[in-house]
Amino acid sequence: MEDLLGKDLNEIQAICQELGVAKFKAKEIFRAVNQKLITNLSELTTLKLEERNKLAESFFISTLQPANREKSAETIKALFCLADGKLIETVFMDAREERKTLCLSSQVGCLIGCAFCATGQLGFKRNLTVAEILGQVYYFAREHKISNLVFMGMGEPFLNYDNVLKAIDILNIEIGLNIAARKIVVSTIGIISGIEKFAQASKQLRLAWSLVSPFEQTRQQLIGYAGLPTIQETVAALAKYQSLTKRRITIEYVVLDGINDSIPDAVELGNIAKQLDSHINLIPYNSSPGQKFTRGKVQNMLAYLKNNGLNTTVRQSLGQEISAACGQLAGLPNDSGNQRT
Ligand code: SF4
Repeated sequence: MEDLLGKDLNEIQAICQELGVAKFKAKEIFRAVNQKLITNLSELTTLKLEERNKLAESFFISTLQPANREKSAETIKALFCLADGKLIETVFMDAREERKTLCLSSQVGCLIGCAFCATGQLGFKRNLTVAEILGQVYYFAREHKISNLVFMGMGEPFLNYDNVLKAIDILNIEIGLNIAARKIVVSTIGIISGIEKFAQASKQLRLAWSLVSPFEQTRQQLIGYAGLPTIQETVAALAKYQSLTKRRITIEYVVLDGINDSIPDAVELGNIAKQLDSHINLIPYNSSPGQKFTRGKVQNMLAYLKNNGLNTTVRQSLGQEISAACGQLAGLPNDSGNQRT
């Protein structure tokens, strides 16, 4: 049996052709799965019974159901257990009436291994499938109208580029949830091949770069990934991306006490930001048990950067009480929390 979730319109058209179902019905099937969010093929009532039966002989529609769900005033965190028993977390943020954001995972674990991040400490398990990425969205979309998506959960999205971009295409299409491309942010540690491919994406998707430290040595100590490009290599790739797309990027910066929150750090962060059309988003570190890091001097950095004309904001921390704030997810049933950018 094959999963219908994760198939794009072309693939569904090919399935229809193979099964002898009228090709125009592919759109109805796609809409039923990705917009009406049906979970059972018996709900495909626009198909003849015979067509439905043919489809059901070979296909099913997968769903993600949380093994655990925690709620705070403005966030809901779901822990999903995948078909192979692996765990991922997804956070729904409902801070403003007009903005309902879902923070999505793209991998189980992560290869990058950032020292301040629980996911990085888990190591890399595997990439999520397109269906598993969509499943996170559709679970919450059955309860809420999602307006924004951020790929800032578990994993490095550009190391699962094809599945992430295919899921985005399915989420963005008019006969799907029709989530606007400019409301979808993909956050990377700076994977050059991903930045280059992302520059070719025709949609107005938004890109965020997690810098971590403006100094090479500190950055490499905090990010344990052997394949990490240098800051200047990443800046060059981002500049090329901007010359092609004309899109502003966000530089994300998790502020760690005594590590990357000094005035020289702010000066160098500003120098890097000035090389790009960028907006700096300072992320207050949310401390967790067992962590050696503490929250840095966010307001000092903000004041310096703003006084020097740099477009800078501070990310609002939501859901700290349930370890769902930015980067506190660990993907464990009894999540003690940890920092992720
Ligand atoms: S911060 Fe992001 S890139 Fe780094 S280990 Fe965590 S999930 Fe991976």
